[in-house]
Amino acid sequence: MNKKSNIAIVLAAGKGSRMKSEIEKQFLGLDGKPLLYYSLKTFEESEIIDQVIVVTNADRITYVKEAVVEKYHLNKVRAVIKGGKERYLSVWEGLQYLDNQKEKGNVFIHDSARALVSEEILERAYQGVKEFKACAVGMPTKDTVKIVNEQGFVEHTPKRSLVWNVQTPQVFTMDIAYEAYKRLIKEKVEEVTDDAMVVETMLKLPIKLIEGSYENFKITTPEDLIMAENLLKK
Ligand code: C5P
Repeated sequence: MNKKSNIAIVLAAGKGSRMKSEIEKQFLGLDGKPLLYYSLKTFEESEIIDQVIVVTNADRITYVKEAVVEKYHLNKVRAVIKGGKERYLSVWEGLQYLDNQKEKGNVFIHDSARALVSEEILERAYQGVKEFKACAVGMPTKDTVKIVNEQGFVEHTPKRSLVWNVQTPQVFTMDIAYEAYKRLIKEKVEEVTDDAMVVETMLKLPIKLIEGSYENFKITTPEDLIMAENLLKK
């Protein structure tokens, strides 16, 4: 039986200004290796993922190929391509590349800043996309969340058990991801913060949230880097 192909688009473009560093956060050293290495390594060793496309800044393509992909023998990486100005534009570059290659199957869109993604998460996400065609990993919020107005006054407090922090990977059939992003670009919608939002708004499809892990957090600030380093030591 033919196994459907599972392709990861790993996002490693952008500057990451909240890290207050000259080097883009996706290349900062984490236990002596560039942050991008960690999620690529998990995909490399995964039973689920067949191939990987890395999206990065144009002036970082050679660095990613030589200092990450070749150096650490990440053989599932099929291409390193240039990203866009915003995250959603980088995703669109990845999807167009796959469409040109006539790739079908499932696409796992992942932020390289979530370096501590695990095989268990990938397995749950794969079950999710097989069953629901569109899913995203996340975790229930630990904090109470308030919705405020423009002046910062509380408008209401959603029931905490129904509020999740969404993570990546966000996983869709290739057809769904490509169609949703194609419409987004055509309609010039710009305020987009994750892929599920694109599918929700453009195609109005239900998206299942799947359990991720609190360790799968987005490394954004210098404190996050320290926390990730401690978790790696564990
Ligand atoms: O900036 P933010 O933390 O939301 O970025 C999330 C992920 O998206 C990061 O892994 C980053 O490398 C990627 N990104 C991208 N292209 C951009 C901006 C961010 O691939 N233009």
